[in-house]
Amino acid sequence: MWLIFLGPPGSGKGTQAKKLAFDFSVPHISTGDMLREAVARETSAGIKARDYMNKGELVPDEVIDEILVDRLKRDDCFRGVILDGYPRTIPQAETLSGALKDLKVDLIDVIEINVSVDALIKRICGRRSCPSCGATFHIDFLPPRKEGICDKCGKSLVRRADDNEEVVKARYEQYLKKTQPLSEYYKNKGVFRSINGEEPVDEIYKTLLSLLKPYGND
Ligand code: AMP
Repeated sequence: MWLIFLGPPGSGKGTQAKKLAFDFSVPHISTGDMLREAVARETSAGIKARDYMNKGELVPDEVIDEILVDRLKRDDCFRGVILDGYPRTIPQAETLSGALKDLKVDLIDVIEINVSVDALIKRICGRRSCPSCGATFHIDFLPPRKEGICDKCGKSLVRRADDNEEVVKARYEQYLKKTQPLSEYYKNKGVFRSINGEEPVDEIYKTLLSLLKPYGND
């Protein structure tokens, strides 16, 4: 399965990507997660990325391209990958296309998850996650049993530094300006499909599976 998820921040790409990756046994590659890890470990890419991320801006293409291309070369990618958060610009899409050619992959599916901006702000500002085990919650839609505490491992939940209204609006603007043109780009290549991201998570997953029939799920 070679799949790209497009969609604004908070559209649910990560949630759906994790489920698919688990069910189809292919890696879920989230460039946002990789960058957050690089920032936490203070690698040179992390140091370059941090300020952009905190402001809700995109990290320069050359920083993220290198991380992504290296990741695709790892052995676990031989059966495919689910890309979540990459590409986010046309030059990144071109870089990806070259990397896929090197891997002899000629077809990649592109699915956009659509959600209105008001729903996005509500979703993102309520998101909480566990820094220890990675479990995710939402203060309204998926609250933990005990406020602020992870159900799975008991650690205190945290809010991502860029999950506040001001930064979310900046991230959405970047999406409209730099990432949305990718829909047209992939439409022209005949590999683009769009789904409604305001349905319940399980309904969206069913829709996805129906679109991914060529990968052998019935
Ligand atoms: P995400 O977790 O996908 O919402 O990404 C969080 C932040 O990481 C974004 O707001 C960007 O600053 C940065 N980022 C993640 N992926 C990319 C990418 N493909 N290109 C540029 N910046 C990225």
